[in-house]
Amino acid sequence: MISKFNLGAFTGRTAKRLILYIILFSVLITILSSALQLYVEYQDEVAQIEQQIEQIQNSHLDGIAHYVEEKNPLQLQLLIDGLVKLPDIERISIIARDRVLQRAGEVMSDRVIDTKLLLFPLEPVDVKEPLGTLHLVAGLDPLYERLKQKIWFILVATAVKTFLIAAFILLLFQYLVTRHLNKISQYAHNLTLNGHAPALSLDRMPARRDEVDELDTVVTALNEMQSRLAEELRLREEAEFDSRSSREQLAHMDRVTSMEEIASSIAHEINQPLTAISTYAQAALRAHKGDEQVPPALNTALEKITEQALRAGEVIRTIRQFISKQASSRGVIGVKALLTDTSHLLETLVSQYKVSLVQGIADERLTVIGDQVQLQQVLFNLLRNAMEASPPESIIEIWVEESGDRVSIRIRDHGCGIDAESAKEIFTPFFTTKQEGMGMGLAICKTIIDAHNGELNFSVNEFGGCDFTMQLPQGDKLEAKLETKPETKPKSEQGSLS
Ligand code: ADP
Repeated sequence: MISKFNLGAFTGRTAKRLILYIILFSVLITILSSALQLYVEYQDEVAQIEQQIEQIQNSHLDGIAHYVEEKNPLQLQLLIDGLVKLPDIERISIIARDRVLQRAGEVMSDRVIDTKLLLFPLEPVDVKEPLGTLHLVAGLDPLYERLKQKIWFILVATAVKTFLIAAFILLLFQYLVTRHLNKISQYAHNLTLNGHAPALSLDRMPARRDEVDELDTVVTALNEMQSRLAEELRLREEAEFDSRSSREQLAHMDRVTSMEEIASSIAHEINQPLTAISTYAQAALRAHKGDEQVPPALNTALEKITEQALRAGEVIRTIRQFISKQASSRGVIGVKALLTDTSHLLETLVSQYKVSLVQGIADERLTVIGDQVQLQQVLFNLLRNAMEASPPESIIEIWVEESGDRVSIRIRDHGCGIDAESAKEIFTPFFTTKQEGMGMGLAICKTIIDAHNGELNFSVNEFGGCDFTMQLPQGDKLEAKLETKPETKPKSEQGSLS
């Protein structure tokens, strides 16, 4: 396990300091504890020597006094020769009238405990005059020698102990802390703001909730920081993308507005010559009415010119109405006329996409309550989307039927359809799958239909194409005679499916 350690940790500044502090601290503690220990031992040993002297006093002093009184030098010498063999007692002398009577041993130590004990006769007890003195000299040098040896032993043992403990603490520190710190710093060094980057985890047992330590806290904080930064970056990128696409959309809107103005003025300019064409054609027809010499083919041609000029005028009127920025005006609108007007607008697209529009109206008298131009805009958008999604030669169906107090208009195509993921966002503003799309069409359609107290729904049909169904509040049904609007059948209209 040790071979896995990073040896750099042992030479690092923290490791060096750790060792130094451990050594300094243990030296200090060793000095203090050894001094205390030696002091206590010194006191003990001195007390032992004093005890020995006391014992001599208690057990042998009377015997010595007796032999001094008897003047028995042989016995005295025998006695003190025995006593001088006791540990640490170096010399014993018996002194009477300033004269050394007997002596045993020699003083070898520099430092000594010198004790003088008075020798009194045993009988009579009240005699105050001493017979002599027992002079005891206990040497302290052996004691100091023993303590000195002990000091060396304590110092060497403590040094070895300190070294072993310091090494063990370092290993422990490396195993428990340093290697994890290395991993954390490596992670922080390679930190990327990629939201999918793996989270930092340490090579150790996962901690229980109540066992979380400082390293776990640092790891959690780093992981949270990483995911917060990634989230911030994502939001920033999104904001940048939004502001870029908003700028592009604004530019697009600007172009659309300019196009509306240009189209409106073209429609206005073309309307005048069209009116003139139909007026002249009608005048020519009236002028030659009943004239036998005029070939019938000319009359037919003049009638066709009038009819087509009127039709072109009708288309222009619808376009102008569609693109003019009029305030919303609600009224009862015939569904049939609404579809016809919208078909006029779509004629070019129908031939461009080579599709056929098929209408199925359950009751031609059905009306809805709403704003003609806005509803045309909705139908126009839905039909244009359907055409864009449909292959050539396919049909797009428009089904109209009564549904309670509402009218349901369903636009069905047989196109590519839409996948489930995109379907969720289909009404979201700026959602588009088209290269040139703006993604506003369906969002606007939904807003318009909602404002009409209606509903606009979407589903994928059994042919894989899309069904868009709008429900609108129903108006009173038209009387057959009230439908005065001239019916101009668009090319795309194939007939009624109902
Ligand atoms: P745009 O036409 O500018 O993309 P829309 O809001 O009209 O914006 O349409 C949004 C998206 O809905 C389209 O890009 C397309 O992916 C999808 N969509 C709309 N109508 C149809 C349809 N009939 N068939 C398939 N997809 C459709």
